[in-house]
Amino acid sequence: RSEKEVAVVTGGNRGIGLEICRQLASGGVTVVLTARDAERGAEAASKLGLPNVVFHQLDVGDPSSAARLAGFIEEKFGRLDILVNNAGITGTTSNVDDPEAFRQELAGMDLMQRIEAINRHSTESYEQAEKCLRTNYHGIKAVTKALLPLLQSSSHGRIVNLSSYYGLLRFFSGDELKEELSNIDGLSEQRLDELSELFLKDFKDGQLEARGWPNEGGFAAYKASKALANAYCRILAKEHPSLCINCVHPGYVQTDMNFGSGHLTVEEGARGALMLAMAPKGGVTGAFMDHTEVASF
Ligand code: NDP
Repeated sequence: RSEKEVAVVTGGNRGIGLEICRQLASGGVTVVLTARDAERGAEAASKLGLPNVVFHQLDVGDPSSAARLAGFIEEKFGRLDILVNNAGITGTTSNVDDPEAFRQELAGMDLMQRIEAINRHSTESYEQAEKCLRTNYHGIKAVTKALLPLLQSSSHGRIVNLSSYYGLLRFFSGDELKEELSNIDGLSEQRLDELSELFLKDFKDGQLEARGWPNEGGFAAYKASKALANAYCRILAKEHPSLCINCVHPGYVQTDMNFGSGHLTVEEGARGALMLAMAPKGGVTGAFMDHTEVASF
């Protein structure tokens, strides 16, 4: 068994995930940096140049790849202390022809204008929406389930889900869905899966607004996927009181996801996730953190 704490970070090859890997490893944690693309992941791990970073392939949308990762952790470390579910996608396709020119254009705008401009240049298809739910909601579930027994073997298991402000229930226009997702005692994982299917059906039928899904301002699948992942996190925290399981909105962070238009650096954006990952035993669980402050879902 490893004496050092062991962490897995999903989508660790770039953006906030890479920064979380860097900071955890610099703090003495053994980090398993994972990425869906083996070449990109191995390159990112080696560029960090830290001896306590190892790479392992993980596509969060592929349950067999999560099982292989669990086998690797079991054999090498015998337990897992920290899981950071960071991998995520927006569920949109960008129609920007010249990304560099667009980046410069965004730099001259205020924050709201940037978000609106990105939305104007994004389109959502059914296929993208489906992929978004598969990655941001079902992916978190599959990876968490595969690694849960190893987290339970730790004396202080922690799960940190990179969520988003966009996953907050205030973006739902319908009270029924909002209430159902708020009432964690009445929710089940099976019901969340049904809601994920319902979202896709409503997307296909053009019924998002009629049902009350968050649709205004675009990124409907992203918002729904993060809200479902938040609810899953709360159910899991209730079922496993010996673990600390939380969600965090990193802030609007300069990464590829927003053409580098965030107002926070990746160092700043990783702060809340790192606070949760390194929190002492007995800390907060089942919570949503807005950057570094506990907030409501
Ligand atoms: P980036 O787009 O920079 O990076 C996303 C990472 O996720 C990449 O490593 C990507 O891998 C990986 N990924 C995507 N799909 C999969 C998959 N199926 N399996 C494994 N890895 C995958 O995003 P950020 O760093 O900005 O975002 C990180 C998290 O923070 C996300 O969950 C995002 O929703 C959340 N967030 C970000 C905000 C921001 O302002 N940046 C704001 C609010 C939330 P690859 O390189 O192979 O594509």
